[in-house]
Amino acid sequence: MTGNNFSGDEASVQEHPHLWRNARLATLDPARQGLGIVEKGAIVVENGRITFVGPESEVPVLAIERAEITDLEGRWVTPGLVDCHTHIVYGGNRAREFEMRLEGATYEEVARAGGGIVSSVKATNALSVDGLVAASLPRLDTLLSEGMTTIEIKSGYGLNIDAELKMLRAARQLGRIRPVRVVTTYLGAHATPVEYKGRNGDYITDVVLPGLEQAHAEGLVDAVDGFCEGIAFSTDEIARVFDKAQRLGLPVKLHAEQLSNLGGAKLAASYLALSADHLEYLTAEDAAIMAAAGTVAVLLPGAFYAINEKQKPPVKALRAAGAHIAIATDCNPGTSPLTSLLLTMNMSATLFGLTVEECIAGVTRQGARALGLLDETGTLETGKSADFAIWNVDSLAELVYRIGFNPLHAHVFKGERIDR
Ligand SMILES: [Zn+2]
Repeated sequence: MTGNNFSGDEASVQEHPHLWRNARLATLDPARQGLGIVEKGAIVVENGRITFVGPESEVPVLAIERAEITDLEGRWVTPGLVDCHTHIVYGGNRAREFEMRLEGATYEEVARAGGGIVSSVKATNALSVDGLVAASLPRLDTLLSEGMTTIEIKSGYGLNIDAELKMLRAARQLGRIRPVRVVTTYLGAHATPVEYKGRNGDYITDVVLPGLEQAHAEGLVDAVDGFCEGIAFSTDEIARVFDKAQRLGLPVKLHAEQLSNLGGAKLAASYLALSADHLEYLTAEDAAIMAAAGTVAVLLPGAFYAINEKQKPPVKALRAAGAHIAIATDCNPGTSPLTSLLLTMNMSATLFGLTVEECIAGVTRQGARALGLLDETGTLETGKSADFAIWNVDSLAELVYRIGFNPLHAHVFKGERIDR
């Protein structure tokens, strides 16, 4: 892809409006039905923002006279894709561990050989900010090649203050050197480092809370996350982290009910969390509480697939409750080495039974909602950032149906065209 020297700090200034015409639009505009389809549609972009979207016959004459024009030849256009849950910044990988497990090694044997999250923490700590950026770029570029325009990136493989900050600096740096909107999340409460084994409370006191304060003071944090699970942190421990986030004015989200139900989603909803993520063990009652709080349910089929989980998230209960459902890659070295939102859509349909409409909304409008960015991106509506993807497909279902095929024609971020 192009755009290697893109600087996210520079506003894109255009002298003329740009008219993208002869398109079939899936606007995802909630004011329109379903996917918000406009046949024979057009988009007008000025200074990186959408100033018109709708039927081509209704484009303001003034805009046409002044505009630079691109004929999209009847191609489908969706909002730029949003990956609202990733851990793409990390060192090393866990391929050897994967191989050992395939050869029959037990969890203990893998751990004794230095595998598990400990190995990712070690490899991440060993890299500088530049090293982390270099390690993460191929993953980011793969996601970008499918028309992604917004990505959330978590810390959580440092597990000491310096390394957590280093991960967040690398995430910010990725947003400066590639045409993508990066949203950072502080995930100090991801795992307990070896030196604090059995002392979660001390780890939160000594590292998670002061680290959050420091990262926030440096402007490195957009949201705060935790891993609420038997093998990680309890609801009481997560509540301490959320209380601190609240005092700093930062939104929260939570890895919840992935392997068991500890009440994490309920806790998250009580803090009006942006999202609760994974949710395989969520109950119908939890789903209703999340819906009432406006907490988005983020489903992560890559992790479900990679750990060969059998319990599926309660999609029917989420629908019945009227909860918003987003989907994401959860790209991480241990349980979801996935760098494709197209495959995430296919897995969400095949494994969880989401509809085509739910899959496409899950990586656009609902993904943006899960990041608190719905006013800025995630749909094609007047006033929003001009972030969209142009596809070589005959129908939108093709985006979900194919496995391992990328039909992206080109995409646009803040009004700038990026060719594959
Ligand atoms: Zn995750």
